[in-house]
Amino acid sequence: MSIGPLPEQVNYRKIAQEAGKLEGFIKLDQCERLAGSIIETSGEVQVKLSFRKARKHRFLVVGKADVVVKLECQNCLTPLDFNLQVDVRYFIVNDADVEIPEGEDSLVCEGEMIRPVDIIEDELILGLPMVARHSDGDCLESHIHINENSPVEGATHRPFAALAELKDKFKRS
Ligand SMILES: [Zn+2]
Repeated sequence: MSIGPLPEQVNYRKIAQEAGKLEGFIKLDQCERLAGSIIETSGEVQVKLSFRKARKHRFLVVGKADVVVKLECQNCLTPLDFNLQVDVRYFIVNDADVEIPEGEDSLVCEGEMIRPVDIIEDELILGLPMVARHSDGDCLESHIHINENSPVEGATHRPFAALAELKDKFKRS
């Protein structure tokens, strides 16, 4: 199967008529809101979506998105790879007032065209960890925050404090 870039917009009603699928990638830098939360935007999000008609003139899109993003470890402040995999499931409705089944989410889309990035981006953002950290033992030790245990210092983010102390030591010796 050929996996190329997804079109910027697709006619979801037409795809749904044929119970069709969409598979391809979206460049990370096209996910503008997600790109603001990660430290490198050169990757691609692999996306699989399938569309079908639901009852009462509604449409259902189900699928998944998968990407490795670079985040900054809050422990050692160096980059870490985070495997972000999310499932999406939305009823596409043309009006926010349209009723959807309980427990389901909806996407409001007034026309026939929808941007695939709008289908996956919210879930991707929700899938990011609250605090990014390397798993145990993977942190770059020389960068670990020396003052982590002190209550005052611990609350403040001072990436260069440790470096300054080191420089002092060198000057003195
Ligand atoms: Zn780390």
